[in-house]
Amino acid sequence: MAFLEISSLSKFFGNLCILDDIDLSIERGEFVVFVGPSGCGKSTLLRIISGLEEITSGTITIEGEVMNDIEPAKRGTAMVFQSYALYPHMTIFQNVSFGLRMARKPRDFIAERVRQVSSILQLDKLLDRRPAQLSGGQKQRVAIGRAIVREPRVFLFDEPLSNLDAELRVQMRAELMELHRRLGTTMIYVTHDQVEAMTLADKMVVMNGGRIQQAGAPLALYDDPDNRFVAGFVGSPR
Ligand code: ADP
Ligand code: MG
Repeated sequence: MAFLEISSLSKFFGNLCILDDIDLSIERGEFVVFVGPSGCGKSTLLRIISGLEEITSGTITIEGEVMNDIEPAKRGTAMVFQSYALYPHMTIFQNVSFGLRMARKPRDFIAERVRQVSSILQLDKLLDRRPAQLSGGQKQRVAIGRAIVREPRVFLFDEPLSNLDAELRVQMRAELMELHRRLGTTMIYVTHDQVEAMTLADKMVVMNGGRIQQAGAPLALYDDPDNRFVAGFVGSPR
């Protein structure tokens, strides 16, 4: 069994089928990118993995344990959103350490973790500021830092770079790849940007209309797309 398994997963909102019979295996440490047009169900799938949304049918397992009825905080997943979702009234230190403070970790432990994470993400000099005093890229680093301090077994990223300008997006992509190399943690990343997907992914999962069209290494999809949608989406010549 793979590290994370999604089996026969379907999701309905009322009568509307949003995710249609999804099967996918994710290996430990893999950087998996879900890519597809707006409305194809990417965010819903991430929310289901994190436990923020219920499954209509099917199962998700992580390390062999069925997640369907496990509450979000106990899944070992951490989500990073496009909108950062920082607490505006808290300092950066308080934002980054929030999860650890809620878990009532000792003060020294928290200080040391925040120090490590701030140094990885170049937040050291920003810890006393508040979110409104940061740039978009800095805010996104804080959001990532808040996820990292909890040492999740899976990171879930929902279009984390979409609000940043093109130049910063390229820089942040490189930072994310470096972070993945450093931590080795499994990452599941959602985007509608093909270039971003091709750059970041070990495994790229092309979705459309609530279904997986094809999953595989970016170059494999490019060289041998299963259908026209995939070919068009990855910009393959055929
Ligand atoms: P994506 O992230 O790929 O843009 P979403 O997962 O956000 O797509 O949405 C997939 C579809 O599910 C869309 O048609 C959206 O309108 C619908 N949807 C998402 N959340 C809900 C909800 N809570 N209730 C009803 N429909 C929803
Ligand atoms: Mg979305």
